[in-house]
Amino acid sequence: MKRILITGGAGFIGSHLCERLINEGHDVICLDNYFTGSKDNIRHLLDNHNFELVRHDITSPYFAEVDEVYNLACPASPPYYQYNPIKTMKTSIYGAMNTLGLAKRIRAKILQASTSEVYGDPEVHPQPESYWGHVNPIGIRSCYDEGKRAAETLFMDYYRQNGVRIKIIRIFNTYGPRMNPNDGRVVSNFIMQALRNEDITIYGTGLQTRSFQYIDDLIEGMTRMMATGDDFIGPVNIGNPGEFTMLELAQKVIDLTNSRSSIVHMPLPGDDPQQRKPDISLAMEKLNGWQPQIQLEEGLKKTITYFENHL
Ligand code: NAD
Ligand code: UDP
Repeated sequence: MKRILITGGAGFIGSHLCERLINEGHDVICLDNYFTGSKDNIRHLLDNHNFELVRHDITSPYFAEVDEVYNLACPASPPYYQYNPIKTMKTSIYGAMNTLGLAKRIRAKILQASTSEVYGDPEVHPQPESYWGHVNPIGIRSCYDEGKRAAETLFMDYYRQNGVRIKIIRIFNTYGPRMNPNDGRVVSNFIMQALRNEDITIYGTGLQTRSFQYIDDLIEGMTRMMATGDDFIGPVNIGNPGEFTMLELAQKVIDLTNSRSSIVHMPLPGDDPQQRKPDISLAMEKLNGWQPQIQLEEGLKKTITYFENHL
């Protein structure tokens, strides 16, 4: 049994990770400031004696004796991370420094939830970890993209300078139950619109692509990464290489929900990446043959059921 700190533990991904680690018998501290997360996501764990909930903002230092830290605290949806871009940067950078400082002091392993956004609007396709990216440093997505890039830099420097036991994963678009239905990301938007028979809002032509990973596959990859030896630090892509246009996604959601929704086009937000697809060969090699098990249609069905129950 390990003592594990999860920052951002009341969010979409964090809540699934809390659940997984509690089910494995670990002692979990879930830290969150509830900016985009919610107590509802982890309410079912509150009676468990191995689960502790802490309201804290990771831009301030936090002290605890733990064996492992998963650093997930950061809004992930564009409308939310752009709502207060300076705060988003602070969360990424001070959050990384505070959790790395903690890991350094107590010799804990620490995993950073980085993102495919470090590749920006990529000119290499699919994206391997060796690609340095094509990121606008001054655009509306920069607070998130550059914040996450700076966090990776801090992780690498704490590793090189202080020997901190780091792990970096680059997560590609992930979806599933407990996504906030109003958080503005494409999968939740399309499902909610389809279930309500409202117009499906495609930004731009809808020919831009994304690769969508179901939450269970991410949690498996994440925990396998944490379990690797200290010689493997990443970064490693964790995503599903299936690539879809937003038009294809909209059509799938309409079909699976038997919706009467029509597709409407809206302006494309600034710096919206045109294509994205992970090269997962490194993950397959280093994480005991890990690869996604749940393809888009199956994952969408599970997510639609969740949203139906929440409407
Ligand atoms: P989310 O918004 O549901 O979860 C983020 C959590 O962090 C929320 O509970 C929020 O309240 C909390 N938080 C935000 N700022 C905080 C602060 N200053 N102090 C403490 N807590 C804070 O998003 P998610 O999809 O669960 O993403 C979790 C992590 O994974 C994020 O770091 C995100 O960048 C990363 N990620 C997610 C995806 C994805 O597709 N979901 C893709 C790439 C990377
Ligand atoms: N998108 C869309 N309609 C929506 C929400 C998003 O067409 O209602 C598009 C968005 O422009 C982007 C893609 O879907 O091209 C994925 O958007 P999301 O915000 O989910 O993630 P990210 O852009 O960060 O990958």
